[in-house]
Amino acid sequence: MNRREGGTKDRLTVTIDHLVLQRAKEAADRKRIPLSRLIENFLAFFATPEVYCFNCGEQFQSTETDLCLKCGWMRCPKCTACGCSVSEETAAAIFYMRKVYEDLLAGRIKR
Ligand SMILES: [Zn+2]
Ligand SMILES: [Zn+2]
Repeated sequence: MNRREGGTKDRLTVTIDHLVLQRAKEAADRKRIPLSRLIENFLAFFATPEVYCFNCGEQFQSTETDLCLKCGWMRCPKCTACGCSVSEETAAAIFYMRKVYEDLLAGRIKR
């Protein structure tokens, strides 16, 4: 994630649900990750989501690829795989994995 950072640090003031913040701080403490690092990671991902191709494992940014007109999935820029080439069972598994991302990002990874 380092390559997306600019180097200089800005102060961010946000208002977050008390319980959510408390639980996040506890979880961050357990993992020994500074909360600011977590927020930075999330914001970097939110701005430029990076995913891995389910077929070849290539990591790519959602901005680097187009959606397949037939299945609506992002096409891998390296091997061009999309949802058209997988079984219904595999497509369902991938769909719910991606749903975790989309719940987290409060929307589609790419429109
Ligand atoms: Zn691929
Ligand atoms: Zn497709």
